[in-house]
Amino acid sequence: MDKTTATSKNGTEKPVIDYHVHTRLCNHAHGTMEQYIQCAIEKGLSEICFLDHLTLDEKGCDLSMGPDDVPLYLYAVRRLGDIYQDRINVRAGLEVDFSPAHAETACKILERFSFDVIGGSIHFVDDANIVSSKRNGNGSFQPDTAFYDRYLDLIDMMLDYSCFDVICHLDVVKKFGNHPPNEFFDKMDAILTKIKYKNVVIEINTSGLSHPANSVYPDPKILKRCFEKNIPFTFGSDAHQPEQVGRNFKDAVTLLHEAGYRHITGFSRQNRHEIAI
Ligand SMILES: [Zn+2]
Ligand SMILES: [Zn+2]
Repeated sequence: MDKTTATSKNGTEKPVIDYHVHTRLCNHAHGTMEQYIQCAIEKGLSEICFLDHLTLDEKGCDLSMGPDDVPLYLYAVRRLGDIYQDRINVRAGLEVDFSPAHAETACKILERFSFDVIGGSIHFVDDANIVSSKRNGNGSFQPDTAFYDRYLDLIDMMLDYSCFDVICHLDVVKKFGNHPPNEFFDKMDAILTKIKYKNVVIEINTSGLSHPANSVYPDPKILKRCFEKNIPFTFGSDAHQPEQVGRNFKDAVTLLHEAGYRHITGFSRQNRHEIAI
């Protein structure tokens, strides 16, 4: 039976799920998968979901597992799920790097497996890697209106594919401190409408509080709008080290409460369950 809440050390029920943690398979995360799970248990989480990278684009494939790694990755997560089933629910997912040229192939690969959740992410805008400081000169790219429009177009295109359950770090384009203008968020409103129409979940990704952006993804200013559109949220730390599991989740709960949310969403074999916050 699913544990959707856990009892924290002070005895209170609290919502504690982390649906976005990485593994060494992506070549830029540290620690063993068991260490991530053990950190999650120590922090009182009731669910942890591995959401490691699957990138088919040549530009990022050395920062990701390849298609041939997927079966073993899924097996490893399921095996750990069995071992830890009495202490925590361990979920299996992928963070798929969306690129228009490879989307069809990615969806075909996904069809062959039974994951709990599939996240979709934009990491590249044309040739610019917007998330890797090693690849973009520590965020030295200078986005202009056309760049932001292209980023939004890519999310729009991603939503045309039905294989994604969650949109990850919705405004990660601000990661290196280039905060988009208000016009970007005005245009984002049409994306939110499409997210609702396509019945997709958004992740509140707390890694942004540790990045130059110093803000969760998506920006707190659009959370109220998400609530008004009745778009569900899940939680993700985007941990690349075990100790980052569940980071800043108290802040995320506060932000979602302020926007009106009282539930978040978890997944099991792509079926959703609600968790009270
Ligand atoms: Zn990502
Ligand atoms: Zn990630």
